[in-house]
Amino acid sequence: MNFVQRHIKTWLLTELVRGLMLTGKYLFKKKITVEYPEEKTPLSPRFRGLHALRRYDDGEERCIACKLCEAVCPALAILIESEERDDGSRRTTRYDIDLTKCIFCGFCQEACPVDAIVETQEFEYASESRKQLYYTKAMLLDVGERYKAQISANIASEARYR
Ligand code: SF4
Ligand code: SF4
Repeated sequence: MNFVQRHIKTWLLTELVRGLMLTGKYLFKKKITVEYPEEKTPLSPRFRGLHALRRYDDGEERCIACKLCEAVCPALAILIESEERDDGSRRTTRYDIDLTKCIFCGFCQEACPVDAIVETQEFEYASESRKQLYYTKAMLLDVGERYKAQISANIASEARYR
């Protein structure tokens, strides 16, 4: 662009007019901005959020303390202790996940043979301290109860892709 053209553009304010035309073009179009947290975008059923421990319908814990999730966790975020019950079955006495270490890879969920540990679509669990991000067995089971319907729906939808 030569000197004369540049000056013509400057004096005729063509850049400004083009900018205003672009603004005008989008002025009456459907807004794409999401007003979070009032509005939320849809999440994939495979979204990996807050962990949960599941129970069977009769209330029995699904986890059989095989420790596969603990072994596969690349971040060493899971800590399990277990003991044998009177009926010979094995259950965890401790199941902790340190969410400050977790990288949300989903390996624990993949490794679990009984679909006991899963990741929900919950992502609003920010806290003001590291301690609150240390999830104990009771907390994980509570998450499992709260998101029971959502977890079941996600597992069913995943099964369709297998
Ligand atoms: S999602 Fe990955 S990093 Fe997090 S607890 Fe499970 S296996 Fe470990
Ligand atoms: S959550 Fe699943 S993989 Fe982990 S110890 Fe329990 S049964 Fe095994």
